[in-house]
Amino acid sequence: MEKKQFQAESKRLLEMMINSIYSQREVFLRELISNASDAIDKIYYKALTDDTLTFDRDSYYIKVTADKENRMLKVIDTGIGMTKEELENNLGVIAKSGSLAFKNENEIKDGHDIIGQFGVGFYAAFMVADVVTVISKALGSDEAYKWESEGADGYTIVPYEKDDVGTEIILQIKENTEDENYDEFLEEDRLKEIIKKYSDFIRYPIKMDVTVQKPKKDSENEYEDQIEEQIINSMVPIWKKNKSELTDEDYENFYTEKHYGFDKPLKHLHISVDGTIRYQAILYIPETIPFDYYSAEYEKGLELYSNSVLIMSKCPELLPDYYSFVKGMVDSEDLSLNISREMLQHDRQLKIIAKNINKKINNELKNMLKNEREKYEKFYESFGRQLKYGVYSDFGRNKEELQDLLLFYSSKEKKMVSLDEYVSRMPEEQKYIYYASGESYERLDKLPQTELVSEKGYEILYFTEDIDEFAIKMLMTYKEKEFRSVSSGDLGIEPDENDSQTDSEDKENKELFDAMKEILSDKVTDVRASKRLKSHPVCLTSEGEVTIEMEKVLQAMPD
Ligand code: ADP
Ligand code: MG
Repeated sequence: MEKKQFQAESKRLLEMMINSIYSQREVFLRELISNASDAIDKIYYKALTDDTLTFDRDSYYIKVTADKENRMLKVIDTGIGMTKEELENNLGVIAKSGSLAFKNENEIKDGHDIIGQFGVGFYAAFMVADVVTVISKALGSDEAYKWESEGADGYTIVPYEKDDVGTEIILQIKENTEDENYDEFLEEDRLKEIIKKYSDFIRYPIKMDVTVQKPKKDSENEYEDQIEEQIINSMVPIWKKNKSELTDEDYENFYTEKHYGFDKPLKHLHISVDGTIRYQAILYIPETIPFDYYSAEYEKGLELYSNSVLIMSKCPELLPDYYSFVKGMVDSEDLSLNISREMLQHDRQLKIIAKNINKKINNELKNMLKNEREKYEKFYESFGRQLKYGVYSDFGRNKEELQDLLLFYSSKEKKMVSLDEYVSRMPEEQKYIYYASGESYERLDKLPQTELVSEKGYEILYFTEDIDEFAIKMLMTYKEKEFRSVSSGDLGIEPDENDSQTDSEDKENKELFDAMKEILSDKVTDVRASKRLKSHPVCLTSEGEVTIEMEKVLQAMPD
């Protein structure tokens, strides 16, 4: 038996691969299952053009079996198989992809279903196995072959017995070392978990022999372990289904299954775009704040799939910070992946998708505000603060997009109102959008500075969160109306006639005011008679951009 050598470059490449390109070993199984799925797809495509072939979906599957005792893991498929030449070319030459060639040769325009393209995934098996054996019989061939390799050393090919068309990959799983544990790849539950994680939406059934406890025959309360063949994957990705086929419950189940959150989502969005970049997405707006949401530990991001295979568990580039609460996934066949299929080569496609998603979320929130007010207010209670941060951050770049999503408590309406509602209710002579900052609505109600504005019948927006005033300063105006704090010097309200006495009051009390100014010299810049007080004797006001409340926030910030 002649042992063929990998070319020198290949040898180095293989070593590099095995040790460095994948961040997690478990993806070897994703790669083998993807290949098996491709192999079945190829029969499917052949059957489309070859009358002698029929594609009976039920006879195609992938099976994973583990033999703990012999440390053997098998991935079996009923796909197209490989001839001797194909074994040599596709598995013997690293970075040669038979699947890519197949797509090109068969001019499959819509062959985006086929996953393989780089010709390296197979070698991921060497991350967990000392020896990899491939037994394969190609469609239309009478002969079967066995390919075997211990990694960088090269491989052997010999004729072999195999009845059915298809491929069997056998991994001799490595022994545990002091630092590394390989046993997990022989554990039924762990294997199920890996299959679910990466390959749940492979179109063909992935079967496993699973141990289940069943009642013993002729006995009611005695149980025994029995082996049962089960299908592990869900096969049809929910996002590829038609919206009309799906119920709210289906979406809720998916949310729970995917561990997007422990709550029930407030809202879901199912997107399917068929433009220059095709993608599908299912997005959720959660109802409750994740416990770590407003902490540095929280990681935003959506799951990213390419051709229904998971590429990244949290892709942060898909969401702006102000929508970091959104959960869900995106699947696209138009992503250019890097060779480990864990990252993207270009982010152009991703940017387009992100922009698109951003718009959809924005629209959805606006619709919710318009049509499902109660729901929106619930959402806003949890995540409104994040939207306000969004207005403030990035130098206000996103304020246009976000301003209509803001709600504030209104002194007059005694409930949350949008800026649009406020402005549309403004009497003609009212110059500004008034706001007051303080600790609570109750306290603000009693604030002396609010009296004059309230008495005029004008609404005041109550700001009780640190970020509120900063966000508003960034907005500057809404529908050409300026914001004005009730504690600012100029309220733009014409004084009533009997109020014009303040000038003379200032003169009359000059001595008193001067004395007060001196005593409070490091606290105030001036003491004056006020036009705005009705029932309170005294109040503080500020002039200029930074209000008293903002000063408090700024002073509380760490240097
Ligand atoms: P890729 O899948 O990116 O093409 P791989 O290294 O995973 O690269 O596989 C290399 C090639 O080997 C595939 O393109 C395919 O032609 C062939 N191959 C691998 N696994 C199988 C299989 N189970 N059945 C048939 N062909 C396979
Ligand atoms: Mg592959």
